[in-house]
Amino acid sequence: MAHDPAPAATKQSKLVIRNIGLMLSGALENPILDADTVVAVNGRITAIGRAKDVDQAHATTTIDANGTALAPGLIDSHVHPVAGDWTPRQSQLNWIDSTLNGGVTTMISAGEVHTPGRPRDVIGLKALAISAQRQFSNFRPSGVKVHAGAPCIEPEMVEQDFADLAAAGVTLLGEVGLGGVKDGPTAKRMVAWARKYGIQSTIHTGGPSIPGSGLIDADVVLEADTDVVGHINGGHTALPDGQIRCICEGCKRALEIVHNGNERAALYALRTAREIGQLERVILGTDGPAGSGVQPLGILRMVAMLSALGELPAEQALCLATGNTARMRKLDCGLIEIGRAADFVFLDKAQHSAGATLLKSVELGDLPGVGMVVIDGEVTCGRSRNTPPAGRVPVVL
Ligand SMILES: [Zn+2]
Repeated sequence: MAHDPAPAATKQSKLVIRNIGLMLSGALENPILDADTVVAVNGRITAIGRAKDVDQAHATTTIDANGTALAPGLIDSHVHPVAGDWTPRQSQLNWIDSTLNGGVTTMISAGEVHTPGRPRDVIGLKALAISAQRQFSNFRPSGVKVHAGAPCIEPEMVEQDFADLAAAGVTLLGEVGLGGVKDGPTAKRMVAWARKYGIQSTIHTGGPSIPGSGLIDADVVLEADTDVVGHINGGHTALPDGQIRCICEGCKRALEIVHNGNERAALYALRTAREIGQLERVILGTDGPAGSGVQPLGILRMVAMLSALGELPAEQALCLATGNTARMRKLDCGLIEIGRAADFVFLDKAQHSAGATLLKSVELGDLPGVGMVVIDGEVTCGRSRNTPPAGRVPVVL
């Protein structure tokens, strides 16, 4: 078949974004790139550089960034989706669309735990996870990539259950502790089974979230050895500082800070991670929808809070919501890098911020204005309806 003509090429899409004022890579080791133009072909980044050095010919979409900043689309490492863009937790519709307006392009489920009548028997919880995985891979609310289908483990599960889940396409575990497994030895055994079959895991850290959930302390977190230490700052009740430090120092796993957690503990975890030189482990989530509600700007609020109060340069704070999460969770987005998904958020200083620049405004605790969001090379949102208005916004030419 070597001489057959290539199959009829499906129409190629080429996105060119030019006139970018500040290129924020999402990579902690090099957060600002010397570039003003990005090209993406069929939803993947193919070139990053100065306008004169980049092939802009035959673009199907051209965006003039109008001097705004370009960052990778934000990643929310911790959400609890249920069905499409509806959540029963606070009886809300379109919470994911609202979060897209907060610059979030990818969400990761920590368990579909708010499903009314959630099954807790083994076959039922497996069925729910497989169904959620299918639903959200078949349907992206407003274009947002929701990685869902995250079962919460129960003591009756056996190794074969994890093999079955993986074979059916499940890649995540819900927060350990939200199911019946709350002790270290059982959690450790099941997390190891999950890992053996390529399923990534997370754990509820801290006091109970709502009546019916339980305490997970540092000993259980360290023994369970999940890939992500879910809400190290509590969800909302945090562990004592000593235990937070113990977790930071006692493992190499991702340290997740959430909006729905304790802000003081968030800052303590951030400072501890910096002190031990492991800021690359810190990732951000909202834990929404939760008792505290839906937080459409939750990730941007965490970035501003950690930057302003944690005295973290804004370009680094943004990495906690993008590249760090992508790397710790093995996602193909989250960095402005050739080959990555073309998921972007355009940011500018909010109108009337006291900060002289976008980065200075965030370091003063102001939220940036979102001017546009792009997912897989396609514009999914223009000027945000939720952030304070950006000074400048990009334009599709
Ligand atoms: Zn939790």
